[in-house]
Amino acid sequence: MEISKLGTLWKENGTLESFAPQWAKVRSGMVEAFPTYYAVPGADPFAVDVGEAINQLSALKPAADGPGYLGSDPQGPYYGSVTDARLPQKGASLAEVNRMAVELFQGMPNWNHPLTMPNVIPPANKAGIIAAMMTDLYSPNIIEGEYAWNVLKSEMETAAIISSLIGWDPKQAGGVYTFGGSGCYFYGVKYAITHSLGEQTRCTGIRENGKLLVSQQGHYCKLNSTDWSGLGMDNIIEIETDPATNAMSIPALEQVMQTLHAEGTPIVAVICTMGTTDAFAIDSPKAVRALIEKYPNPNGSQPLLYCDAVIGWSWLTFRDYDFVGNPLGFSEETLKNISSNYARISEIEYADAVGCDFHKTGWAPYNCSIFVMKDLNHFRQLMTRPGSAYLQDRVCYNPGLFTLEVSRSGSYSMAGWATLQYFGAEGFQSMLGGVLEMEEYLRHRITEEPTAVCVNADDHGFVTLFRIYPSTVPDAKAQYEKELNDPSPAARAELIKHNELQEKIGDLLWQWFRDGKLHDGQYGPYVSYTSGFRKTNYNADGADPLAVIYALKSFPMNININPATMEQLLKIALYARDEIEAGIEPAVKQSGNCTLPYTENPQPVDCAQTASGAVRHAVQNLLSGVPL
Ligand SMILES: *Cc1c(COP(=O)(O)O)cnc(C)c1O
Repeated sequence: MEISKLGTLWKENGTLESFAPQWAKVRSGMVEAFPTYYAVPGADPFAVDVGEAINQLSALKPAADGPGYLGSDPQGPYYGSVTDARLPQKGASLAEVNRMAVELFQGMPNWNHPLTMPNVIPPANKAGIIAAMMTDLYSPNIIEGEYAWNVLKSEMETAAIISSLIGWDPKQAGGVYTFGGSGCYFYGVKYAITHSLGEQTRCTGIRENGKLLVSQQGHYCKLNSTDWSGLGMDNIIEIETDPATNAMSIPALEQVMQTLHAEGTPIVAVICTMGTTDAFAIDSPKAVRALIEKYPNPNGSQPLLYCDAVIGWSWLTFRDYDFVGNPLGFSEETLKNISSNYARISEIEYADAVGCDFHKTGWAPYNCSIFVMKDLNHFRQLMTRPGSAYLQDRVCYNPGLFTLEVSRSGSYSMAGWATLQYFGAEGFQSMLGGVLEMEEYLRHRITEEPTAVCVNADDHGFVTLFRIYPSTVPDAKAQYEKELNDPSPAARAELIKHNELQEKIGDLLWQWFRDGKLHDGQYGPYVSYTSGFRKTNYNADGADPLAVIYALKSFPMNININPATMEQLLKIALYARDEIEAGIEPAVKQSGNCTLPYTENPQPVDCAQTASGAVRHAVQNLLSGVPL
């Protein structure tokens, strides 16, 4: 058909003539594939579609006393036939696509379930989910004000809220939402490189071996950031941690800074971890700031101080809490721990920039993280690029001129912002304090159980780490002390044997979580174990890879966890131990059934072991971040 005749295909009422070509008919049918652009009376048809989809998905929920996964088949996942996927010739109906999509959730862990506590994975709150979904409807792009309109306020207001909780001037601070705590870290490293080695690095590339100083227990995304930024993983210098607190040792840091200063090697950044995943170690930005001032770089710049607060930031919501009056009525023990967490986290004030994960300790959906800088315009000054020919500055604030990303979804910022509005300080305080109360209860019950011991009794983050000993060990606490301190070959052998027991219990619980059966009258919980929470006291330098402490983990992040859940957890962990003693072996079977190209096991790059760095790149436990 000639293009000039195109107009004849449509009748006056907007429907197609019967002689219209097939493309026009298919296209016309696809109007249904989109929400309407105009209002319709009554319930919006798309709201009905969404409601139906949520209902279909919700059919995967278990009964209230059911297992901790979605749906009826926990045996997967099934990756065996993925390479058979092809684009279908004809699209499926919306109902059919929804049905297939729901199927992909079969067997997945249900983060909201009381028996699910493997890691810092909080179920997402309603306001956060809904606000994020809203952005899927209208696609605000927070690259610039013109494309996001007032949705960009959700980012700007979050920055103001967080910076005032920190104690920074919200008229000077700013923030950008990005793709996770590792994204924040990446922003921190880039900011640091530009700030410390100079703006010219943006043109010439990095031409100096500037160092990144971070505690041994800092998160492994130090590798991602130095690698992808081009700074190089060999430029990480890991600073020893204090064996008692797991925090970065300030004397050790000073020694390294002194040496680098004396030899004229620049330091790009010192990273303080404000809450590690397992040990909840909190470094001291105040002490680090003093050292930064003492040891400037050869070019006169100061190393940047970035706080990786992705886990710890939310304790800042206690800024105005009345710790004397204790209006929320926390137990004495919990109050003490909250107050200590807050006091240490509040040193963030001394940072230049911080990263906060709302999808970790903010109960927001993935991804939802904000990188907040104390001085927005310093950051902008260092990072701004020329604008593009196809974007005009029609609105006064256009973060796309200095962000890593080009398009940025408003879903991050809307979810974070909505969560702040929905919870308020009191909501955060009760959620966070609630985690500690549950944890305190579990720890109390562990002290009552002679064959169990809590191994992180001194820290009060989001996790309880505990070891279960053989039923023949009369005093788990004494046995653990021995394994921690006694370097004799006999004690070391016991440590290793009992580490294996933790691993077996962890594997058996994992098997029970997934088999959908009752064990000792209950469904299996989803917990995890760490194979390197800390080193023994006689292995401070980590020279002995086996002299480390394995432990089972409980992260009671979700709101449905209560003392009865903790009773269940302890009971089934002991029962798993009994079953192992009775000869049950957990089946060591990796699920997924991967085929090519997913079965290859590429070896990590083997970097030089620098004299000053001695960083080991084989991070074995990706979650704890403790290199073994
Ligand atoms: C989880 C975590 C990260 C990485 O954050 P993502 O949001 O998973 O990208 C970085 N640092 C610490 C301390 C973490 O716990």
